[in-house]
Amino acid sequence: MADKMMACVRKDPGVLVLEERDIPTIETPEDVILKVRFCAICGTDNHAAELAFPDVVMGHEVVGEIVDIGSGVEDFQTGDRVVASCMLSCGRCANCQQGEPSACLNPEGRVQHGIVLDGCQAEYVRIPFAPFSICRIPDALNDQQAIVAGDIFSTAVGVLERASLSVGDSVAIFAQGPLGLCVTAAARAMGAGLVIAVDPDPFKRETAKKLGATLVLDPGKTDVVHEILNLTDGFGVNIAVEAVGKQETLQGAFGVARIGGAISSLGVYGFDFNDLAIPVAHDSLVPDTFYHRSFITTLCPSGRYRMQRLMDLIQYGNIDLSPIWTHTMPLTKIVDAYEMMKNPKNKIIKMGILPE
Ligand SMILES: [Zn+2]
Ligand SMILES: [Zn+2]
Repeated sequence: MADKMMACVRKDPGVLVLEERDIPTIETPEDVILKVRFCAICGTDNHAAELAFPDVVMGHEVVGEIVDIGSGVEDFQTGDRVVASCMLSCGRCANCQQGEPSACLNPEGRVQHGIVLDGCQAEYVRIPFAPFSICRIPDALNDQQAIVAGDIFSTAVGVLERASLSVGDSVAIFAQGPLGLCVTAAARAMGAGLVIAVDPDPFKRETAKKLGATLVLDPGKTDVVHEILNLTDGFGVNIAVEAVGKQETLQGAFGVARIGGAISSLGVYGFDFNDLAIPVAHDSLVPDTFYHRSFITTLCPSGRYRMQRLMDLIQYGNIDLSPIWTHTMPLTKIVDAYEMMKNPKNKIIKMGILPE
């Protein structure tokens, strides 16, 4: 094995370069080293490009082949094709043991900084806490189908699970980026009734229909809150999902959640979220004040056996998320790929990266 590889490195705020790096090596007994087969650029990578620490290798979504394995990793072998959780979870601390591994308390073995895996936009990556954080991929699934179990599909299912979705529930999803689209598909797969997808971009609305939305609304053309209340006889929806982390989408979600319902958000709001003005221009069935709903936020739920269940759902439930994969570029062009993603005219929903 060579000892150098190419990696996408964050230099200064917003400045990414492709550069030669040492191939990572085993540092703790629970590490594995993956040869990357497929990785992806996430919406949060744009925040990371601005905010992450210098010299971090970018990327937290990966499928790879195990090429080296720590002495404490049982059940896996070199050559295994695995997907990794995007959140770093030890599997042992109080939060992990109480079913909240995405809020793991254990800083040991973390790749660089914080709670999110990094280093995946490279030819090789070190995955810590491997016994908890990687899962073998069934032969029936290709890399693109499996990678979502480590991040966006897990978050999408989680945002509905944590809102206690019941069969037949009405769900409105504000924003149809890769995550919002996965929520649309997950709502359909989990037995929702009416699924309403909201996005200003016609291409994303079209994609939402392919993934199971009953109907799509353009917030640029209609008063979406009013429209959704009309569609639900003035009651509002059982679950209103905020799927991008913006104040306007969160306010929209607050405006359409019915009494007893839930506002469920997967957005990462950062540091400047304030002044939430809850729109309460409700029809007579809903009092014009805000009470008796649940407000839920969700990080990406992680863990080996959760990823196994999600891959089972994709495989046996015939979940087809292929419409989100609009683009694939080689690792050598990854800096261009980030640039392309900034222009909405390029109609990019999810960008896959192939190391070779
Ligand atoms: Zn991600
Ligand atoms: Zn933990």
